[in-house]
Amino acid sequence: MIISVASGKGGTGKTLVATSLAVSLKDKCSLQLVDCDVEEPNDHLFLKPVIDKKEPVAIPVPKIDETKCTFCGKCAEVCAYNAIAVLPKNVLVLPNLCHGCGACSYLCPEKAITEEDMIIGVVESGHAGNIDFIQGRLNTGEAMPVPVIRKVKEKVSPDKTVIIDISPGTSCPVVESVKGSDFCLLVTEPTPFGLNDLTLAVETVRKLGILCGVVINRAGDNQGKMEAYCREQNIPVLMTIPLDTEIARLYSRGITLAEGMPRWQEKFESLFRHIKELVDERSSSLKR
Ligand code: SF4
Ligand code: SF4
Repeated sequence: MIISVASGKGGTGKTLVATSLAVSLKDKCSLQLVDCDVEEPNDHLFLKPVIDKKEPVAIPVPKIDETKCTFCGKCAEVCAYNAIAVLPKNVLVLPNLCHGCGACSYLCPEKAITEEDMIIGVVESGHAGNIDFIQGRLNTGEAMPVPVIRKVKEKVSPDKTVIIDISPGTSCPVVESVKGSDFCLLVTEPTPFGLNDLTLAVETVRKLGILCGVVINRAGDNQGKMEAYCREQNIPVLMTIPLDTEIARLYSRGITLAEGMPRWQEKFESLFRHIKELVDERSSSLKR
């Protein structure tokens, strides 16, 4: 079963939930924690894994042979990302805009374009105790997280319980990371911004046909609107984490809730059981 942990906005406590869930389940099942938040992977700060493999991620970018080029401009016309500019006597390639789609080299009438690999990030694998740990890292200054996310997801073992930590927001990297999940846990906070971003996140996961549930973090007596929204939308609120300075202190020291406050371990186990019931219910209703 693949469970994604996502949030409509950054700073809601998504990493705390993903890592606490992983630590709570590590002795109960064969588990993989996958950090797809490749622009800012943080799960390693909580799990402190031993990394034993690093694999670079590259995309093919065009290289122009100006001795063959007639400066016809076709490569610039076909590039949807404005990564090529054809000038009267030379061709400029802007590698940071290139998506490595190969259209320019395919369509160049003079076969003047070859491709060379440009490394944009790395996939790191290892383990934290008996948790299989995978994370992607996009190199600083690179603008293309999706190829790194795809490489990370090639490592997902569907025969295990997989927890995927997803980048915040609702853009392409989120869609790429969340697709294929059996369940998406949306972590939010009870503020007007939190509610607005949760609404967008719910729309995205529903378009992908993925079941979802909510964790309200930093809850006090102000989550009425959030709960009312979830009720209206028929989305279960599966856990509420209170606004608590001790929890904030643990977070700032890179300690999961399950380790820093062991009573939370049972709550995360129960969260997992609840998710499993919802996923099982859905698969049996699809079989009927
Ligand atoms: S399509 Fe080929 S020949 Fe035309 S400008 Fe681009 S590189 Fe040169
Ligand atoms: S490979 Fe695709 S994105 Fe990159 S320059 Fe060529 S057409 Fe543009």
